[in-house]
Amino acid sequence: MFNQLVLKYFEKLETPFYFYDTGLLHKTLFAIKEAANLYHYTIHYAVKANANERILRIISSYGLGADCVSGNEIERALNCGFTPNKIVFAGVGKTDQEIKYSIDENISCINCESIEELQVINSIAQASKKKVRVALRINPNIDANTHHHVTTGLSSNKFGISQYELMLIIKNINTFKNLQINGLHFHIGSQITDLNVFKELIKVVNTFQNFLREQNIEISYINLGGGLGIDYENPESQIPDFQTYFSGFNKSLQIFNGQTVLFEPGRSIVGQCGSLISRVLFVKNNGDRKTIILDSGFTELLRPALYQANHKIINLSSNKSLEEYDIAGPICETSDYFGRSILLPSTQRGDLIAILSVGAYGEVMASQYNLRTIASKYFSEDIKPKLEKSKTIFHNHYLF
Ligand SMILES: *Cc1c(COP(=O)(O)O)cnc(C)c1O
Repeated sequence: MFNQLVLKYFEKLETPFYFYDTGLLHKTLFAIKEAANLYHYTIHYAVKANANERILRIISSYGLGADCVSGNEIERALNCGFTPNKIVFAGVGKTDQEIKYSIDENISCINCESIEELQVINSIAQASKKKVRVALRINPNIDANTHHHVTTGLSSNKFGISQYELMLIIKNINTFKNLQINGLHFHIGSQITDLNVFKELIKVVNTFQNFLREQNIEISYINLGGGLGIDYENPESQIPDFQTYFSGFNKSLQIFNGQTVLFEPGRSIVGQCGSLISRVLFVKNNGDRKTIILDSGFTELLRPALYQANHKIINLSSNKSLEEYDIAGPICETSDYFGRSILLPSTQRGDLIAILSVGAYGEVMASQYNLRTIASKYFSEDIKPKLEKSKTIFHNHYLF
């Protein structure tokens, strides 16, 4: 990811910045497509993980759909090559304008989270004289075994339709004249590394599906959400094991004729391809602790402050002997740390530091708190070896 050419390129750049290894993104997309094709699964990329336009264009070029959670994400996805029939609109709090916009743009489906939302979508669809495809996002009450801030499938979370409301919806299903309710949606959390959690999910999906079929509700597609975790400790492993993930679903998920099965991964597609590159401003020494102060903070990468997340941190400028450091940002908040007691080669002012695995929920969560400047982005595909002058002439002379 950081060869000599890349490091040389970094030298001239103002820090902090995000760096995307587009080669790795291509490899990851190829891997997920290949694994999903085995079972004819459809993949919608969760735009909220990284909405950078160049990243989105690369993803849409692989034929993936988009899972959007705001009107602006839908607009961005449309502008970056995703076709409306492959865009799904999810989210627990959609405004009337966003719903109307998604209906006007003829996107493929709205994932709905409550009976009240169904009523609102129905009346907006009626005013637009359209029939709108809707999937019910079910809250399956499953513990995703992940950080409590990224668990979404417990009945105490705000997400999804409870079993109580589902009964009400079924009872009133004929009143939604402008809706075609024919999808089921589940998303139980993020950064899930325990694959047994997905086994639990499959059991619940099978139960719900059979129950709805008994009520004569036809289900044409099942959306199993995202959530597959990545290895933050060993970013070298890089491409998630999509094969094992999908084969688990293939083994136990009940599918009926003509049904589409779709997934909406975010992190597992873009997580490993991004890094945050910073310079060391100061190394503070209080006698028993040394603290590295970087020129980036939670305004560039919020995950450590928001979810106590750990990212691998490396010093790109030093290969001296290891020392222990706390690593902090410049923001005036006590939570602005990237790591505690981290072993790094002896570090000094001006060293380049890379924080790895920031492709997902990094750039998208950037803020301007402390009136900071939004960091720049660079892409590996733009770094080309400079040709020797003589070679350039050779090239021009003989080929053009
Ligand atoms: C966030 C989210 C995703 C993506 O989750 P990842 O953990 O990044 O794969 C997918 N679907 C929905 C509904 C989401 O809210």
